[in-house]
Amino acid sequence: MDYRVLGKTGISVSRMCFGSLTMGPLCANLPVEQGADILYQAFLSGVSFVDTAEQYRTYPYIKAALDRLEEPERIVISTKTYGYTDREAAWAVEDARLALRRNRLDIFLLHEVRDLEDFQEREGAWRILSEAKANGVIKAIGLSTHSAAVVAWAAEQEEIDIIHPLVNMSGIGILDGSREDMLAAIHLAGQKGKGLFSMKALGGGALMHQAREALNWAFSQTDLDAVAVGCKDINEFRTNLGWFEGREPEEAAFLHLLDRNIAFDKEPRCHGCGACVERCAAGAMSIGEDGTAQWEKAKCIYCGYCIAACPWFCLSFC
Ligand code: SF4
Ligand code: SF4
Repeated sequence: MDYRVLGKTGISVSRMCFGSLTMGPLCANLPVEQGADILYQAFLSGVSFVDTAEQYRTYPYIKAALDRLEEPERIVISTKTYGYTDREAAWAVEDARLALRRNRLDIFLLHEVRDLEDFQEREGAWRILSEAKANGVIKAIGLSTHSAAVVAWAAEQEEIDIIHPLVNMSGIGILDGSREDMLAAIHLAGQKGKGLFSMKALGGGALMHQAREALNWAFSQTDLDAVAVGCKDINEFRTNLGWFEGREPEEAAFLHLLDRNIAFDKEPRCHGCGACVERCAAGAMSIGEDGTAQWEKAKCIYCGYCIAACPWFCLSFC
C-alpha cells in the first residue's frame, strides 16, 4: 500500500480510501458486523483512510471495525454534512464525535457543494466547521463537489484544506465540464497545497465493466493524494486492491464483481413530491406524465442521494 500526506494538512493516508457508502443503508444495506468485517480486512491490508458522511449512516460500521483494532486512532476518517445552518453543522459534528467515539475528528467537509452560491448559502455551516478546527475539534476542513468550477475556486481559498472531487476516466457525473476541465482544476488545487482525494472512480457503478481500466486511471492521477473506492463485499475489495497493487485478482472474485445489479423500485407508490428530482444533481430523476418519479439509467451515477431524499421510502438499490 502507498501512503501520501493530504496537501499541507500533515495527515498521512493510504492512497486507497475505503468508500463506505456502498455497504451502508443507502446501497447494499449490509448488516453492521458484515460491513465491519470487510472494513477490518481492509485495515489489515493497509488501508488507513475511510470516507463517510452524516447521510450515509455508516458510522456504526466504521465504529465496529475500529473497535477491533489495537490502535484505532491510526485510521483517518473523513466525513461530511449537507448542513446549511450553524445548527445543522454543529449537530453533524457532535453526531460524528459521538457515533465514532472520537473527541477529535480528522476531516470534515461540506457535502456536495454545487456552486459558489451554494457555498455562500452554507456560510453558517462553514463557520461551525472553521470554529471546530480552530478549537482543535477537527484537524482539517473542506468540501466535496461534482463541479470543476468549485474545485478551481476552492483551490484559491486559504481556509480550505481538503477537496474531495468527483472524477473518473469517462468524466461521468461532472456537473459543469469535461474530464480535462476537472483534471485542470485538480492540478491547480494540488499546486496550491490542497489535500485531494477523489470519488466515483467507477462512475458509481457505470464503469464496473471497465473497472480495472477505470481504477488504474484513477490511481495513476498523481495530483490525487488518494482515491475513494466503494466496496460492498470482500471479493470486491480484494479485486480492487489487487488492481491497485498491480496484481491480477482471482477470476472468481472478478466475476463476482461484475455480478452487480443496481435498479430502482418504486413501492410503495411514488407520491410525486419531486424531492428526489430536486436532490439529483445528475438530472437522472424527473416527474413523468403519470405524476410519479422516473429514473434515467444513462444519467445516473449511483450516488444514492435520491434514496435518502424520498420521504416515503419509495426508492432503493436492489
Ligand atoms: S437518480 Fe439517484 S442515484 Fe442516480 S444520480 Fe440521481 S440522485 Fe444519484
Ligand atoms: S421523493 Fe419519493 S415520493 Fe417524492 S417524487 Fe421522488 S420517489 Fe416519488
